[in-house]
Amino acid sequence: MERALRACGVEDVNGAGAARCGAEGDMEHNCKRCGKLLEGDEIALYRKLIWREASEYLCLECLSKDLSSSPERLRDLIHYYRTKQKCCLFV
Ligand SMILES: [Zn+2]
Repeated sequence: MERALRACGVEDVNGAGAARCGAEGDMEHNCKRCGKLLEGDEIALYRKLIWREASEYLCLECLSKDLSSSPERLRDLIHYYRTKQKCCLFV
C-alpha cells in the first residue's frame, strides 16, 4: 500500500516542509486495511472510537467489521457526534 506519508520524506529545502508535515487536513489518508481513500469523518470517528492519537485509520466498512456494526450505524454515530456533542474532532 502506498504510504501517504512518503511525501514527508522529501528534502526540506526552505524549512517550511517540516511544519506542513505535522499539519492535519491536507494530507490524504487511506484505510490501512483495504486502502480506500478516507474521508475526514472516517478519520475523526476512528480517533473518537479507537485511538485519539492514531496516525493510521480504517474506513467505515473495515471499522464496522471490527466493531460488529455496520457502516450505516457508524454514519449515524458521526452525525450524532457532530450535531449533538459538537465534538472537536468533527469539524
Ligand atoms: Zn477499509
